[in-house]
Amino acid sequence: MIPKEQYLHILQMVKNLKHQSITGVTDEELLTRAQNLAQLEAFSGFLPIRKGTKSPLVSTWGEEYLSLEKALSYEPAALAVFSPNFLTLDYDKESALDFVAERGIDFTLPTLHTRRTDKLWRFKQTFLTTDEMLDELPNRSIKRTLNYLGTGLDVFCSKKAYIIIDGEYEDGEGRYYSPGGLDVCDLQHPPKEVWDLILEIAELQSHDKSSSQTYSNTKSKKLYPCPICGRDKNHWCFENNNGLIHCMNGQTFSAEKKHGALKIGDVVDGYALVAQISTCNTFKLHNPIFKRIYNPRPLNRRSASARR
Ligand SMILES: [Zn+2]
Repeated sequence: MIPKEQYLHILQMVKNLKHQSITGVTDEELLTRAQNLAQLEAFSGFLPIRKGTKSPLVSTWGEEYLSLEKALSYEPAALAVFSPNFLTLDYDKESALDFVAERGIDFTLPTLHTRRTDKLWRFKQTFLTTDEMLDELPNRSIKRTLNYLGTGLDVFCSKKAYIIIDGEYEDGEGRYYSPGGLDVCDLQHPPKEVWDLILEIAELQSHDKSSSQTYSNTKSKKLYPCPICGRDKNHWCFENNNGLIHCMNGQTFSAEKKHGALKIGDVVDGYALVAQISTCNTFKLHNPIFKRIYNPRPLNRRSASARR
């Protein structure tokens, strides 16, 4: 444990800084928050954030894990943290809440929450993954995922995605904070429904190796209604550039709710199931014409007879 005198030192430091990078009104509030934040040093690095931006004041971040005190010495306007073990759901729009609720994810589940004083319904929910969980991912992380399936949900599970957790929002109006009971000491491991979402994103990203860009809805076409499950609201099912149809499992619509139990190779309404994970069924247009290309003789014979 860090001695209390050191926190008092940090408190003095915070009060003397040009910008208030820790949110709190009374000395007691600031002290408590500093104590909570300092616990993150055990598994994450701090980043000082430049006033009026969301950018770090240090250029080579990611290798060096700065302590809270060291980060504060940069006189930042806000503080960010990064760790390979952080999994963060960033609810940017109300549609993101609808999306996760439909999948059985409880966005109120107590863990570390980061809110903004000016926009209460925009918040981040951060979980702590175990090393065993990360072993399930191809690169022990997923690519930074913005606006997943066009729902307004950002998903981070990577050391390369830092999370701003305290101090001023870039516009200087709002402030980041964590409500009581949803602070650092309340960090939880992700429940199954959340981890399934990460596995799904990792799976979709592995289908998309051609591009190193962030996976987002820009390279896919929304399907409404979805030709597989018939979903005609929320429009989560989508078709990729490569022609694969990703039909998402929700509580109301899913491929198996519409067509019964499915296995790889099954054809429904002209689409063949080519991949299946717990949250999504992936289909490809089933085109028997391809068989003729590989076995052209019957086709030639038929065209020959047509000429007669
Ligand atoms: Zn669908």
